Amino acid sequence: MEKYWVNNWVDSNPNKDHEVHKEGCQHLPLKNGLYLGEHPDYYSALREAEEYLYEIDACEECIEEFRVKSANAK
Ligand SMILES: [Zn+2]
Repeated sequence: MEKYWVNNWVDSNPNKDHEVHKEGCQHLPLKNGLYLGEHPDYYSALREAEEYLYEIDACEECIEEFRVKSANAK
């Protein structure tokens, strides 16, 4: 289980969407982050985030599942 956060302050993000981050990520929003709790994977954390927000994306730096998805799409 790892700790996940989502940024809920979109003005600081040029893409204007919400990004899910894992603990230890350099992009983790310390002030405006919403703590999602501990989850076994990104998709579980995403479901938690969707309870509060919409248009949620994964951080490409710290979410392995996102990188796998991007690699498969090419
Ligand atoms: Zn991140």
